[in-house]
Amino acid sequence: MTLPQHHDIVVIGAGIAGATIANELLERGQKVCIIDSANSPASGCSSHAYAIAHPHIGRGSPRLLRLTRIAFSMAEARWGQTWKQHGIFLPAKKDKPFNPQELITHLHSLELDDDLARVLSASEANQICGIAQNGVWMPRGASLNLSTTTNALLRPHPNLQCLWGKRISRFEKRGHHWMLIDDQNHQLFSANKIVVAAALATKSLLSSIDIRLPLRPVRGQLSIFSVAKESLWVNHLPKTAISGDGYCLPAERQNDGSYRWMVGSSFDEGESDLNPWVASDEFNREQAKALVNYSEGGDEALVSSDSFVGIRCVAGDRLPIIGALTQRPGIFIVTALGSRGILWSALAAKLISAQVLQDDFALLARLGFTEDLLAALAPARFFASALASPPSLGVLASNSKPILPSSPSAK
Ligand SMILES: Cc1cc2nc3c(=O)[nH]c(=O)nc-3n(C[C@H](O)[C@H](O)[C@H](O)COP(=O)(O)OP(=O)(O)OC[C@H]3O[C@@H](n4cnc5c(N)ncnc54)[C@H](O)[C@@H]3O)c2cc1C
Repeated sequence: MTLPQHHDIVVIGAGIAGATIANELLERGQKVCIIDSANSPASGCSSHAYAIAHPHIGRGSPRLLRLTRIAFSMAEARWGQTWKQHGIFLPAKKDKPFNPQELITHLHSLELDDDLARVLSASEANQICGIAQNGVWMPRGASLNLSTTTNALLRPHPNLQCLWGKRISRFEKRGHHWMLIDDQNHQLFSANKIVVAAALATKSLLSSIDIRLPLRPVRGQLSIFSVAKESLWVNHLPKTAISGDGYCLPAERQNDGSYRWMVGSSFDEGESDLNPWVASDEFNREQAKALVNYSEGGDEALVSSDSFVGIRCVAGDRLPIIGALTQRPGIFIVTALGSRGILWSALAAKLISAQVLQDDFALLARLGFTEDLLAALAPARFFASALASPPSLGVLASNSKPILPSSPSAK
């Protein structure tokens, strides 16, 4: 009988998360095998071409603020040469008084310097972004095509093995190794360490080893609108990206003088339908009007010409799940990236490779990545024992009963 092929490190899932981690491990001299059930990289949510990245600046959720600031610098270090740095404008809430001084103090408290986040009056914003609204300007905010990025991360490398069209359905512990088994019960591989980056499918994979994670789907549709050159809308299209309730990219002028404008996205809790919905385009038209403060703009002038539909994977508390599964040594999880695939993949690459290679955490600590942030992302936060002893690198939680956090705050 031939034994299944053995690998030191196997990554399951070739989306932006799995690909970024595999790439980091390769750069650190490791051999990596990456497996995906699809026939090519970026077939799932990471087929997305229009993802944006900026640090979160809202009030509340202090850990999210710190995490996104650290993750943004990691993403910028990784992709800053290749992403489109058009800047992102965050309009102030219209139902609240605009107090620039208070906002400046808030941004400084987040250690966001002027080159990263700057308060703009409506007239300044009109000049820079083409939108006459008060708000915060993030000149280094950018967009990234997740599909081309994922493919580039997995370009041929002597230490990288890619296996397409292989669906893993469960794991089994055999001695010191993990066995990866498909739905025909074939033992495909054995591995010392498995990084599970399979988005929603992570839930069923982990249930095979009695670990239950509170993951659920949130469908999202982006609309690509075409705007005729004679439309009144042309004077209201943004020159930069805008992120508020929804987001949009800068409108792109086409050869015939019309504009192509990406606006999104819908947020359909619990839905997994990948077909485009007319209702989602309508929702995005409303978001478009609010983003550029043009409530009188006609719907019919925003003609749907294309769309992207993806299924986000989210956890109950809306933070990603990134870390070693201390209850099952050798298993590492990266899932629930929600709407921040760029930031969390960059952060996961550093964190997971440090855990897989059992580095000391001095580098991560220097970047501001402290023990409480590690605990906020760790899978162990969902298990009963986490209440008694907050998860940390050395803690072995013994109970895998999930605790569903209450009242998710969506973005
Ligand atoms: C409408 C919308 C807008 C968004 N906007 C932004 C944005 O502006 N900025 C941003 O940063 N992010 C954004 N996102 C989020 C981003 O797209 C995701 O967070 C990211 O793509 C998730 O990457 P992933 O690698 O975790 O998952 P995926 O890309 O889904 O990859 C998972 C992979 O696992 C594979 N797989 C699954 N099960 C198995 C199995 N059993 N065996 C083997 N392989 C398996 C799948 O085939 C897939 O390739 C948006 C998402 C949507 C839907």
